[in-house]
Amino acid sequence: MPKSVYIHIPFCKSKCAYCSFVSFNKLELIESYADALLSEISAKYQGEALNTLYFGGGTPSLIPSAILKKIISRFNLLDNCEVTLELNPDDAEDLKDLYSAGINRLSIGSQSFDDKILKQIGRRHNSQDIIRAVKLAKDAGFKNISIDLIYGLPNQDIKILRNDLQKVLELDIQHVSTYGLKIEEDSFWGRNPKYLPKNIPDNDAQADMYEEINSFLERNGFLRYEISNFAKSGFESRHNLNYWDNGEYYGFGVSAHGYEKGIRYSNFCTLEEYINNPLSHREEHVLSPQERLEEEIFLGFRKRAGISVSRIKERFSVDFEQEYADILEKYKDFIEKTPEGYTLNLKGVLISNIILADFISGND
Ligand code: SF4
Repeated sequence: MPKSVYIHIPFCKSKCAYCSFVSFNKLELIESYADALLSEISAKYQGEALNTLYFGGGTPSLIPSAILKKIISRFNLLDNCEVTLELNPDDAEDLKDLYSAGINRLSIGSQSFDDKILKQIGRRHNSQDIIRAVKLAKDAGFKNISIDLIYGLPNQDIKILRNDLQKVLELDIQHVSTYGLKIEEDSFWGRNPKYLPKNIPDNDAQADMYEEINSFLERNGFLRYEISNFAKSGFESRHNLNYWDNGEYYGFGVSAHGYEKGIRYSNFCTLEEYINNPLSHREEHVLSPQERLEEEIFLGFRKRAGISVSRIKERFSVDFEQEYADILEKYKDFIEKTPEGYTLNLKGVLISNIILADFISGND
């Protein structure tokens, strides 16, 4: 039974140039959307005690805290339940209310501390807004704060990136998520390539930046516990670890994905369709045993802890070392043995897409 819940909040005041997430500038629909969410939750949530609850978006910080409180109150939360909300730095007004509403972890969409870059990629905030948001969050009582950074941004070089990382240290936060810029087809830049800035770092430069992030953060007390995520000890995102542990979770809201009883599903519909009937848009995919095994490997290798051989044996009756001996040999310089099983080393992380694709296709 799922012990985690993801809730998608599909509203943004404007669209960032690189963004392909599902979000709409229809803030007048926030209240009706919240009503629809409450109906979906009432109909589908079975009352399990939750380890984690996550509000992602979009911009969840656009939802008034009274509404968030009402949504949170629908769930049975364990005492130490991790309740995360993604916050845009320009929405840091009622953080005390958010904290009293039951949110205990913030994930701040910072992306960079370089004001020119922030403007160029269409962010509404500047570096001072990020610094202010972190300060207000701490004043409000938050002790678990994460920041998102993007690398490979237009005109970004290693020096600018180092400055971003230095700012993270100065802010004394607990968690950093880093993403390499990808121009997705359904982003503004993807649809309008003529507006694409010229000076976007290429793949090699992005790889150099990733290595810089890795060494800088690991030198300064963070552990890369997942390919894109770094945390101080004890501040790993429990919600995201559940995904990478191939755990089940509920997904509520427009375009939210969930995983229950071996079925992956998503709410595939427009905002208006969801508001009119939040219960009738689920698209489901029943995973075959082979697909479940591949997900276990694919997700497991994203974690620093890697995959567990005994768990794979127990769950799938597969001898991992025998079944994948050729691939383990092929990538022996990129995969390391752990007490439990196997993990990617840093060189392996840099080509993880290639290695993981082999694990998936190598067993056809
Ligand atoms: S990046 Fe975040 S804030 Fe910007 S449009 Fe996408 S979801 Fe909204």
